[in-house]
Amino acid sequence: MKDIPYKIYLNEDEMPKAWYNLRADMKNKPAPLLNPGTLKPMKPEELSPVFCEELIRQELDNETPYFRIPDEILDFYRMYRPSPLVRAYCLEKALDTPAKIYYKFEGNNTSGSHKLNSAIAQAYYAKKQGLKGVTTETGAGQWGTALSMACSYLGLDCRVYMVKVSYEQKPFRREVMRTYGASVTPSPSMTTEVGKRILAAHPGTTGSLGCAISEAVEAATTTEGYRYVLGSVLNQVLLHQSIIGLETEAALKKYDIHPDIIIGCAGGGSNLGGLIAPFMRDKIKGLEDYRIIAVEPQSCPSFTRGKYAYDFCDTGMVCPLAKMYTLGSSFIPAPNHAGGLRYHGMSSTLSQLYDDGLMEAVAVPQTKVFEAAEFFARTEGILPAPESSHAIRVAVDEAVKCRETGEEKTIVFGLTGTGYFDMVAYEKFHDGKMDDYVPTDEELSVSFSKLPSVSV
Ligand SMILES: *Cc1c(COP(=O)(O)O)cnc(C)c1O
Repeated sequence: MKDIPYKIYLNEDEMPKAWYNLRADMKNKPAPLLNPGTLKPMKPEELSPVFCEELIRQELDNETPYFRIPDEILDFYRMYRPSPLVRAYCLEKALDTPAKIYYKFEGNNTSGSHKLNSAIAQAYYAKKQGLKGVTTETGAGQWGTALSMACSYLGLDCRVYMVKVSYEQKPFRREVMRTYGASVTPSPSMTTEVGKRILAAHPGTTGSLGCAISEAVEAATTTEGYRYVLGSVLNQVLLHQSIIGLETEAALKKYDIHPDIIIGCAGGGSNLGGLIAPFMRDKIKGLEDYRIIAVEPQSCPSFTRGKYAYDFCDTGMVCPLAKMYTLGSSFIPAPNHAGGLRYHGMSSTLSQLYDDGLMEAVAVPQTKVFEAAEFFARTEGILPAPESSHAIRVAVDEAVKCRETGEEKTIVFGLTGTGYFDMVAYEKFHDGKMDDYVPTDEELSVSFSKLPSVSV
């Protein structure tokens, strides 16, 4: 028997009963959302045609450290939480490393990713407000799947705008959403004004997350009894995802484990923001000095090559402006296979922490990510999502460094989901047909030049 079990499970009663709001402890608060018309900070009443009331309150609250999780949401969480923290003994052995590697596994639910943690919260507050339904966008499909599960549980209508290329290439994801009762429209579509405009300007476009967001927002604001919900980037989403970090912290404490390095993949930043929340709190308070690493694809390098600036969250420029590390809202990344990481911007909370030097970021090429994914599948058994495999890549690299230096570091990474719907990507990798497209500086300068000019 090993002294630390393969899987550290918390009991149900050890599951956190409140979300933790890291912003409350940040010295430099994330910059506020701005009204795209007046360039003044968004007021709650300006957000209320788009978002639910309670979610607006959570979005704008930089002071309250803990938000009690409503009992109904806790009941739903109990269907798949607490999630295990796994000691990757087999991976350590295969790497012949003195490092100790742990991963927090969020793929143990039908949606296949961490996104359900926020989907149920957002659907719950919409239902409580007496709404009929919600609209959203989905790229690869994980968020749409999670939201459709949450909505069917609560009896709420769910309308998903799915990036057209994924709608066509991922029919199985689409059918999972429809199984849970959601309606799924390929975006850009002719069902919205902004969709028509984008199609007129770019005939034949296969869409992007930014386009789909514009359409979903328009659909929400023009349909009685509907609001829009978003699966990443926003402060409220990081708040809900703090359940990941709080459970990780509790599991580590249970066995007196002290992490040195914490790693997560970063698309819009929600899983990473959630995973690191309590650890970053202790780092900000000067109690600990963890290394915290965000991993992003080289094809969509918001942190490592982006600018820290106010930008639109969507292509149609209907959403508020957020200050974030961004490649520019007109940047459309090459069709890499980690759909969940193809967003031009980054959570403004994480952007501020990164700008303050409290975390690091690494960009990795796609084929190296799939090498790590396959190695992980063969050693630990779990078939990882391409997004999650970005974190695996860097965890493996850090463990290999430990082999070289002999250091016994403790590494914790977030395994955000499973890759069963990504087998076309794995097929490309196996057939040697995957490329490592990296945008040139010239390409990036085109989208940077279209950043809105905001002086605040
Ligand atoms: C959506 C997604 C991500 C990236 O989103 P974040 O908001 O950055 O966490 C990562 N992994 C999986 C499996 C996803 O579905």
